Amino acid sequence: MRGDVHIHSKYSPDSKLEPDQIVKTAKSKGLDFIAISDHNRFIEHKLDFLLINGEEVSSADGHVLALFIDGEIPSGLSQEETVDAIHDKNGIAICAHPFRSVNGIGAKFRNVYDALETKNGRCKLECNTKGQNLAAELKRPITAGSDSHFYGEIGRVYMEVDASDAESLRKGILSGSARTRGNDLTSLGQLRLYVKLGKDYSARGFKKI
Ligand SMILES: [Zn+2]
Ligand SMILES: [Zn+2]
Repeated sequence: MRGDVHIHSKYSPDSKLEPDQIVKTAKSKGLDFIAISDHNRFIEHKLDFLLINGEEVSSADGHVLALFIDGEIPSGLSQEETVDAIHDKNGIAICAHPFRSVNGIGAKFRNVYDALETKNGRCKLECNTKGQNLAAELKRPITAGSDSHFYGEIGRVYMEVDASDAESLRKGILSGSARTRGNDLTSLGQLRLYVKLGKDYSARGFKKI
């Protein structure tokens, strides 16, 4: 199955995407599953699609992606506490875009995660490669997600997992059998994105997420 497990909907302060339109777009891109992972917000979406409950948590150290959770994970905790909170909600904890300069955990990384997001649609090749190398060195499972905040980004980056439902998907990810696919962000793509994000950031009153 193919899926994109890092998508932001209108329940994130920096996205306007409607959950039902996200699903429609994912289907049109040939995806079999997705996770809507809003910033610091847990919502159990009821839509006709294989939807993993997700949240992207702003830990004190950087962003942590929570998948398969059954409740909200608080923001502002250390990465270790965040991972524990995710496990308490029966989820799996993923270090999101570990080496992205914006909101990545980077040098503070601790080896406490179930998996590392080694392909993020808003990271350039160098940034994703660093994550891949770290996951390989630590023998940790990997995931991929577009980090979409616009419909056009959905499925640009995705993962392939041998699975047929949510439970086998979870097992597949944890067993390290996921393959990451899609294109890293180009320099031009990054420039365009930063211009767009700069506008949003000033419109939000320079509030970091
Ligand atoms: Zn993030
Ligand atoms: Zn994100």
